[in-house]
Amino acid sequence: MSAEPEVSQIELDTFRAEVCRWLDENTPSAPAFKLPDSFLEVSSDEQFEYLRAWQRLVYDAGYLGMSWPSEFGGGGRPQIFQDIVNDEMAAGNHPFMLNIVGLMWAGPVILKFGSDEQRRRYLAPMLRADEIWCQGFSEPENGSDLANVQTTAIRDGDDYIINGTKIWTSLGTQAHHMILLARTDPSAGTKYQGLTFFLAPVDHPDVEKRPIRKMTGEFGFNETHFNNARVPASCVLGEEGQGWAIAMATLAFERYAEGGQAGGLDMVQLRVSELVEMARECRLDGRPAIEDPVVREELVRLSVEERAIEMNDLRRHIPGLCRERPDAIGLMRKLVTSEFRRRMTRFAVSLQGEAAKLYIGDPGAVEDGDWQRHYMNAYSVTIGGGTSQIQMNILGERVLGLDKG
Ligand SMILES: Cc1cc2nc3c(=O)[nH]c(=O)nc-3n(C[C@H](O)[C@H](O)[C@H](O)COP(=O)(O)OP(=O)(O)OC[C@H]3O[C@@H](n4cnc5c(N)ncnc54)[C@H](O)[C@@H]3O)c2cc1C
Repeated sequence: MSAEPEVSQIELDTFRAEVCRWLDENTPSAPAFKLPDSFLEVSSDEQFEYLRAWQRLVYDAGYLGMSWPSEFGGGGRPQIFQDIVNDEMAAGNHPFMLNIVGLMWAGPVILKFGSDEQRRRYLAPMLRADEIWCQGFSEPENGSDLANVQTTAIRDGDDYIINGTKIWTSLGTQAHHMILLARTDPSAGTKYQGLTFFLAPVDHPDVEKRPIRKMTGEFGFNETHFNNARVPASCVLGEEGQGWAIAMATLAFERYAEGGQAGGLDMVQLRVSELVEMARECRLDGRPAIEDPVVREELVRLSVEERAIEMNDLRRHIPGLCRERPDAIGLMRKLVTSEFRRRMTRFAVSLQGEAAKLYIGDPGAVEDGDWQRHYMNAYSVTIGGGTSQIQMNILGERVLGLDKG
């Protein structure tokens, strides 16, 4: 890979000021309806259209896919520019992007393994949210054991015929395309062989979608049934039989263990400082919760962890600070950030005392029950993209060198 050109600090500072100004002037005001916590819970048309319009605005302004090659719709600029945009969006908690499966992992794998024709066909409409992407890895009987894929794609002339069921397909209801792992050679030696990676159309007459409702009451994912769905062979990414290697590369992007994502936020940012404010408002034994030593101790613990996560993210880009285990920070990022979010939101709900049992729309709910929804949705990120237990296995094996259990 060629080294990125040097960029002066003055140029970066000027760019940061320009981004801040643009965000101030262009971020849409909060809508009258509730936005979801992340791209995983987009349920209504109005949420979808609001988020789609925002992603388009950001892309059209040149602030998305900034480091992707310009001939495929990207900005062709050094990654540092996109990092600045991401930082400023996070700092101001600007709305997240809609087409996350595309921007953060389908796009990078297409760039890595796709033909120029595929890159030209798919990447620009993905960046602009003209075409929405979803991921078809999990099946009703196979989640963590991803290689045990049962969905088949059998070659028939210039096409493949796909049969099987995928489940928990986030954004599946709205999606045009799916990154799909399917078995093209059921007689191949091991379960890792005979798998192929498809860029499959899912707004297709023989693809049926059945929405699934979450415990928060929201939708956001579905079952996807392929019933003899015929797709052209040009939908294969890489080579037939290369599916497992491409799926592993996809998960590295999805878990942010590898860089190259298009940028933007993927969920609402939650900060410990918001909990501090809540602890001032909520009462415990007749006094502000913030005066309770146990509450104070937990707030300090969470603040330290929050800061450590930020510092690790920075450290990751400084080779001298992670030379001994270069992969460790990337590999642990998903585990650490998702578990942190789950504990932080649980604490936020616990601060509310009896009101903790109230939910969105209930009279008397603290902050309209948003923290209850944040808490329940926080489990999503500890499961989607590989559960915390699986992340711990990976860290144990790849970073600590422990034996496979
Ligand atoms: C909100 C959300 C969105 C999702 N979106 C998508 C999507 O868009 N596309 C998609 O393909 N999938 C998606 N998923 C599915 C997700 O990837 C799977 O749920 C996940 O990989 C776990 O698989 P499973 O549900 O089959 O659980 P299982 O694999 O059956 O696991 C059950 C339990 O056993 C534990 N376990 C399993 N194997 C091991 C092991 N070897 N060692 C230790 N513990 C183990 C797991 O940690 C878990 O606690 C989504 C899930 C959620 C919650």
